[in-house]
Amino acid sequence: MAVRALLSGEVLGLWDECRDASREERALALAAAVDDSADSLPPADRPVGRVTALLLRLHQALAGARMAATVSCPGCRGTVEFAASAEALLGLEDKIVDCPAPLLHGGYEVVWRCPSYRDLQAVAEQPGADDPDLGAALLLERCVLSLRHEESAKASARGADLPGAVREALTDAMAAADPLADLLVDLRCPDCELEFTADLDVAAFAWAEVECRGRQLLLDVDALARSYGWSEREVLALSEPRRASYVRILTGELP
Ligand SMILES: [Zn+2]
Repeated sequence: MAVRALLSGEVLGLWDECRDASREERALALAAAVDDSADSLPPADRPVGRVTALLLRLHQALAGARMAATVSCPGCRGTVEFAASAEALLGLEDKIVDCPAPLLHGGYEVVWRCPSYRDLQAVAEQPGADDPDLGAALLLERCVLSLRHEESAKASARGADLPGAVREALTDAMAAADPLADLLVDLRCPDCELEFTADLDVAAFAWAEVECRGRQLLLDVDALARSYGWSEREVLALSEPRRASYVRILTGELP
């Protein structure tokens, strides 16, 4: 999948637009800004992992492949460091199945699709969706397109009618068809040795880099506007190497 490079003005525009946005809105805005694929489906309607892949590429373009962060240990509250590689995760992108085959399990034939950000947003608006079990059930129901039991001629589209074992098989099939949808890292606390898993929030990593780049751009605009009397628009219209050279002149780093 291709991504387009962001212009300096676009980085600042995204920074403004996404500052107060929800987690999902922010992920979609960042993904849409760099999306250069021929897919006519908007990112919100693609499998969640397709958006994650765009965000991984955005992170790679802005700050390289390494994503490092710290989490709080659930046992001792100590700080646990971890790092992940955007490049390694992008190796999973080819495994995403956009149009999965029907699931055949326990006499059922279930036509389904992978959850999208639109589904995540719709589920988040439902009362009680912050309960993980209910949220997962609502998501699964949205993604069942039709189902049929071999002993019944009647087709249905109600995922709620599925027995538990079929729902479990469907959950497994969804995870296999979109390995970038839920990224978990296995961690071990160096202090109390507790083993736990943490979510790898790729959207948060990408957003942190947009913020960092946005802040740097503002500092550059400020410095160049003061010294040369240029407007923000004029500073942002400079190519990145040219702008960096002028800033180095100001700081005396360019001989
Ligand atoms: Zn600990």
